[in-house]
Amino acid sequence: MPEYDTVIVGGGLSGLSCARRLYEAGVSCVVLEKQPVVGGRVQTDVVNGFLLDRGFQVFLTSYPEARRQLDYDRLQLCKFEPGALIRYQGRFRRFSDPWRRPGHLLGTVAAPVASLADKIRMVLLRNDVCRKSIDQLQQRPEVSTAMALRLRGFSPRVIEAFFRPFLGGVFLDNSLETSSRMFEFVFRMFSLGAAALPAQGMGSIAAQMAAALPDAMVQCGVCVETVKSDHIVCDNGRVITARNVVMAVDEASVAGLVCSKPVNGWRGTTCVYYAASAPPVEEPTLVINGESDGLVNNLCVPSQVSGTYAPEGKSLISVTVLGIPAAEDAILDQQIRSQLVGWFGKQVQEWEPLRTYRIPAALPFQKAGSLTPVEKSVVNEQGLFCCGDYLDTASIQGALASGQRAGQAVLDRLGH
Ligand SMILES: Cc1cc2nc3c(=O)[nH]c(=O)nc-3n(C[C@H](O)[C@H](O)[C@H](O)COP(=O)(O)OP(=O)(O)OC[C@H]3O[C@@H](n4cnc5c(N)ncnc54)[C@H](O)[C@@H]3O)c2cc1C
Repeated sequence: MPEYDTVIVGGGLSGLSCARRLYEAGVSCVVLEKQPVVGGRVQTDVVNGFLLDRGFQVFLTSYPEARRQLDYDRLQLCKFEPGALIRYQGRFRRFSDPWRRPGHLLGTVAAPVASLADKIRMVLLRNDVCRKSIDQLQQRPEVSTAMALRLRGFSPRVIEAFFRPFLGGVFLDNSLETSSRMFEFVFRMFSLGAAALPAQGMGSIAAQMAAALPDAMVQCGVCVETVKSDHIVCDNGRVITARNVVMAVDEASVAGLVCSKPVNGWRGTTCVYYAASAPPVEEPTLVINGESDGLVNNLCVPSQVSGTYAPEGKSLISVTVLGIPAAEDAILDQQIRSQLVGWFGKQVQEWEPLRTYRIPAALPFQKAGSLTPVEKSVVNEQGLFCCGDYLDTASIQGALASGQRAGQAVLDRLGH
């Protein structure tokens, strides 16, 4: 008699979402996570009273699967100001969302980052992606994001000063070779909701999901070494039998477990956190680098979004660099400061480095052509179940949605 109906390998958001689906259907299952805590790529460390998300990331309130599964009130979501400040031609230019901030309309219309024609195209883009359903958007022909922007008639100026740094920061792909399906999905999500941080850090999203499951259902610190269709073997030799096994791990880890070949590469990022006695920008907004030079892609002050991110009287500054720079931390710190002194003046020299996160495996690279179809099968060629963001849009939404699909596929096989 197998110990469980289902074993889920991996306690990231996709694995927790799958477990929730099965638990709600009354199926006995266990989640095995190799790290000491659940969350996978969505984690928060507490360092000297600062909340440091492992790599700068934001939660988009419009994610449909997150709306279904998460209790937003308990997460105490704190919202970013819509739009962004763009560093362009030596000054900060406001790029606002006139629907949500009508008072900023004039400033946005006058911003030199984009021509009037670009601003009209932006309105058309917003209308287009908001009027269509996600399903309809995901059926459209796929081209690169760079090509999609050109086909929509955007000028090289607005592509270089706004779209490349903004979307490059979202996809961790400055080349904008990422699929246009991902671009339209992301633009729709930003248009329909807010970018936010939970008061206790991004890691609290996974913590909330795990808390909805019985304690014994989630076992951390358990690394699985071998996966077969009816059992798994842990690195300490423990064998757990089950009717079904779900691999809720990233694609490279799937390859290690069942000798398959990963299809997608990775996009990496580096996040450097600083403590300061005063915020360099007062607004809870994202500051993006529209100047096409320097290492910094974007900067924000999470403690201006939610005061819980820093101790009383202190500010937390997050600086994101795309990819993994060759320079060691001390040199990278100098390079970042010399760029940001030009933005904020001498105060930058007073900032105290807190921690540097280098994350080579941050997001699956979803190049144009790889998102057909967007919702990939959750049963692999060996008949094993799998879920993860690489099988959907590479995002929190995609991880949660793929977990639900894998849970449903297990239920179908069990005849529920
Ligand atoms: C720096 C960064 C910024 C991001 N920014 C955003 C953002 O702003 N908005 C957004 O929506 N998304 C963002 N993302 C993406 C989002 O975090 C991921 O899409 C999502 O968390 C993926 O969840 P997952 O369950 O598919 O995979 P993972 O989180 O990778 O979970 C897989 C789990 O499996 C475990 N595991 C692996 N092998 C084994 C094994 N052998 N035994 C047991 N356990 C194992 C791992 O430890 C891990 O916990 C960002 C990601 C990063 C890293």
